[in-house]
Amino acid sequence: MNGIKQSPWIIHYDASSCNGCDIEVLACLTPIFDVERLGVVNTGNPKHADIFLVTGAVNEQSQAVIRNIYHQLPEPKVVVAVGICAASGGIFRECYNISGGVDSVIPVDVYVPGCAARPEAIIDGVVKAIGVLEEKHREMKAIANSLDKTLFHRADKSDAPEILALQKIAYQSEAELYGDDSLPALQQTLEDLENDFERMPQREGTVLGARGAQDSSVADSDRIIFLKAVVNGKIIGSIRGYAMDGTAYLSRLNVHPYFRRRGIGRRLLDEIEQVFPQVNRFETKTGHQSKRNLYQLAKRGYETFKTEPYTPTITWVYLQKDQRPAHAQTKGVK
Ligand code: SF4
Repeated sequence: MNGIKQSPWIIHYDASSCNGCDIEVLACLTPIFDVERLGVVNTGNPKHADIFLVTGAVNEQSQAVIRNIYHQLPEPKVVVAVGICAASGGIFRECYNISGGVDSVIPVDVYVPGCAARPEAIIDGVVKAIGVLEEKHREMKAIANSLDKTLFHRADKSDAPEILALQKIAYQSEAELYGDDSLPALQQTLEDLENDFERMPQREGTVLGARGAQDSSVADSDRIIFLKAVVNGKIIGSIRGYAMDGTAYLSRLNVHPYFRRRGIGRRLLDEIEQVFPQVNRFETKTGHQSKRNLYQLAKRGYETFKTEPYTPTITWVYLQKDQRPAHAQTKGVK
């Protein structure tokens, strides 16, 4: 981390700036400010960068590029939104093709105000970003060393902001894979997720759908259950599911990209399956190109039973696992 701290590598992308902020970013490199003498390197390769500097509001065309660059930066990474346009969309916010600031697409760590942002403010933002990067490094190292102490708990409504932040990071790779950010996990708002903690599994016109989660007569097994994987007090994975008509529907298996391939997703799946011992089958879905998800689910005994187009680029693959005893499965007992 010392090397990164003394010489952070930055990649700069102009999302749809008027170029005012870009000129100020370049001014940081000119002899007056000359940040390179302090070790700051402006790289063109996202795989070499630690800090992602974005100027301008985000439009339809730049969304995919921002995701692509963000996805290629190694973890941990820090995003700096430079100028009011990058922070919120600025004066372009109401334009038909603008989705808002950079945080409408990827998580932002540091906001640099100004129109245009002054070079001094940009340098200050980079210094703050180094602090954030250092903190992330420390935190991730500590978590990586303690993965064997991961705790799997039920999550509650107070976990919603952390779960949503994790979800938005975890699903970036899927959006990048499909070149499509319309995935429900990326579109979900905090309000919607908080409501999920109180919402009953939906089935129009039924007593189940009409009751609220606060209703004490509603059995625990009828609620949407959220599980979280926690290390050192930080949520690094989550999954949710609910049971209805003998089937447990499982969804949104999120694991932070930095902690993937360490068995966290597998444990979450195991844990949530144990929450629903009364069901006959489990059902889940994933995108048709999500080969690793499909492979992992197949390994856990899930089989594809239908596919359904969701967007021109995404087709949902529905998978199920029979939970009934072997003799009941072969005899076709329901
Ligand atoms: S913040 Fe101002 S200078 Fe920067 S891109 Fe937006 S309009 Fe241009």
